[in-house]
Amino acid sequence: MAFEGLSEKLNAAFKKLRGKGRLTEADVREGMREVRLALLEADVSYKVVKDFVAQVTDRCVGADVLDSLTPGQQIVKIVNEELTALMGGSNARLTFASKGPTIVMMVGLQGAGKTTNGAKLAGLMRRQFGKRPLLVACDVYRPAAINQLQVVGKQLDIPVFEMGQADPVHIAEEAVKYARDHGNDMVFLDTAGRLHIDEALMDELKAIKAAVKPTEILLVVDAMTGQDAVNAASAFDEALGIDGVLLTKLDGDARGGAALSIRAATGKPIKFVGTGEKLDMIELFHPERMASRILG
Ligand code: GDP
Repeated sequence: MAFEGLSEKLNAAFKKLRGKGRLTEADVREGMREVRLALLEADVSYKVVKDFVAQVTDRCVGADVLDSLTPGQQIVKIVNEELTALMGGSNARLTFASKGPTIVMMVGLQGAGKTTNGAKLAGLMRRQFGKRPLLVACDVYRPAAINQLQVVGKQLDIPVFEMGQADPVHIAEEAVKYARDHGNDMVFLDTAGRLHIDEALMDELKAIKAAVKPTEILLVVDAMTGQDAVNAASAFDEALGIDGVLLTKLDGDARGGAALSIRAATGKPIKFVGTGEKLDMIELFHPERMASRILG
């Protein structure tokens, strides 16, 4: 997985600090300058970097760090804690409905990985919690989308509900009824994406949301698009309100800017990450593990 460049640069900065023994405030500030550059090069949002570095510096120039026996190590520990907090602290789980099927509405731009990762997530919920998911084809504009959902459904042996090119709001409503009648306790709505965020797309998503009141709206974004992924997250959250993010293609993301910025930029947690094309390549997002990996 990603972040090699960032790891390397951060570790180089920390090596210098560790090598010094006693540290002055000036040493810390010099080290933080390198941290700042490393994060900017990793495509982390400017404001996120600025706030992060200010927070870390504040903690690192305190007497308890500078006068300690191992100031370099203390600083690495602080950076680890702050990176973890930046990505949301503890891992955020999916909420299950207390009554009736849990409805997860998958939204995102075209090509982000909505269809495959909706299916992956359904498979994960079956594996982890014994759920009986239903996949629903609400993307009626591209005939290939319905077919693609059927293909992945078949591969995972998860049923697919479709009504051809019918009205997506109607399809979503009928799918929820079908799920109740057939003992499916989770419904994954595969909604339409567009190349760009536009009003027509948002209006349709809002109408589906109003009709079926999803338990979770998960935004699917492509990690490889960096700050565009962060911008998409902000735009979808403002227009629709999202509950969390599924960050895909982390396996191909060499920089890590989206993973590090989304939480701070939108206030919404990354809940899952896609780590490859295969249908079992999805994981819960653990901020702490990710921070350790970056500093590892
Ligand atoms: P949609 O248009 O948002 O529904 O996107 P798709 O689900 O069709 O995915 C677009 C492409 O991204 C497909 O070729 C997927 O196999 C690929 N893809 C999805 N998730 C991942 C991932 O986590 N890693 C990699 N490497 N490829 C992925």
